[in-house]
Amino acid sequence: MVNTLPMQQTTAPFLKLPSDQDASGRTLGAEEIACLTEAIHSGTLTSTKGTFVKALEKQFAELLGVKYAYACSSGSAAVHTAIAAIDPEPGDEIITTSITDMGALTPILYQGAIPRFVDVDPVTLNVTAETIEKGLTDRTKAIIVTHLFGNPSNMTEILELANSRGIPVIEDTAQAFLAQHNGQYAGAMGAIGCFSLQQGKHITTGEGGLVTTNDDALARRMFLYINKAFGYGDANPDHYFIALNYRMNELTGAVALAQLPKLQSVVDRRQSTAAKLTAKLQGLAGVATPYCAAGDQHVFWKYCLRVDSQVIADGAVGLAKKLKEEKGIFSAPRYIQKPAFQCQIFAEQRTFGNSRFPFTLATPEAVDYNPTLFPGTFSGLEQVLVLPWNEAYTDEHIDYIADAVKQAVKALS
Ligand SMILES: *Cc1c(COP(=O)(O)O)cnc(C)c1O
Repeated sequence: MVNTLPMQQTTAPFLKLPSDQDASGRTLGAEEIACLTEAIHSGTLTSTKGTFVKALEKQFAELLGVKYAYACSSGSAAVHTAIAAIDPEPGDEIITTSITDMGALTPILYQGAIPRFVDVDPVTLNVTAETIEKGLTDRTKAIIVTHLFGNPSNMTEILELANSRGIPVIEDTAQAFLAQHNGQYAGAMGAIGCFSLQQGKHITTGEGGLVTTNDDALARRMFLYINKAFGYGDANPDHYFIALNYRMNELTGAVALAQLPKLQSVVDRRQSTAAKLTAKLQGLAGVATPYCAAGDQHVFWKYCLRVDSQVIADGAVGLAKKLKEEKGIFSAPRYIQKPAFQCQIFAEQRTFGNSRFPFTLATPEAVDYNPTLFPGTFSGLEQVLVLPWNEAYTDEHIDYIADAVKQAVKALS
């Protein structure tokens, strides 16, 4: 195309995209204020006596179709609660992914267990039955499956493997509210589901979390763990085991209760705009749109492109740079700068004092972070470009993003 612009270039102002970091991209409004006002007027701000957190737990369990849901103070607290409920012996291994939030990993160490990192599928960046199988040992106590970016993992295959060994699966559903695999909700398929209500998730209270389960015994332990393992309501209550205060307060519960009815619409809108962008980017050489298995529901916490560096100069990094410079669109090549096992906490075993506990109990194989063992992890991170995604995107925003990507790809090809 011939450049027909006049000599003094007029740069069009960047279109500002709605952001999950402020009101432009959050669904916080009158309903949340009404609930909060009610909570404050009630004068009861602790969930042990109040009504909002209890109502949230009941409604969330109903929404997911599970027997139990318990609210807690963060997604990290949710994962910690799940692991504490499973109650590993020191040195037991818990299989997990290195492409996740650190809040999903440190709880393993706090419970004295060893995170056993397994590789991921380079396309979805999710763990698979095949990669999990390679990490199974006679010390494996649990498997954590993270549904990354809102795309559900293949839970059919994973549960088949896990069930055949009698190993519980914890679903980290922090990024995948209402995602579905084979018609079943993420967080309702494994033994325990963990959710986060942090600022940048589908619905938010700033900080907050939830755990779900259908298992009576796990439910009991999670209920206790969130509240210092004190047997509230028991005939002779005591503090039954080591546990923290991970309670959600009523103010947070009030906001969450108002957010919950908005969740389906948030997901619907994210899916419909994602489908529009995918349609617009079809056939663009060097860029692959998000993969989702047939029959599954990806809920687009983020929208990820896979960028082929053989076609596009500097790959995902080059594309991100162009998008920012030319159109003011911020994206994240690699998502995380390095796999979690390369962070100091794991690479240098920084835990409790100088003890290195619980790594002192690990087998050499469990802490072997040789990159050759993680080909999918490294190649997946190399290719991925994470575009921020939001329920408030309009057709205008989608056109803007699509044109920006097309122009950048053209310039870099
Ligand atoms: C956000 C997140 C967490 C941690 O949640 P917090 O509420 O920030 O503690 C855990 N796992 C995943 C996959 C997340 O995205």
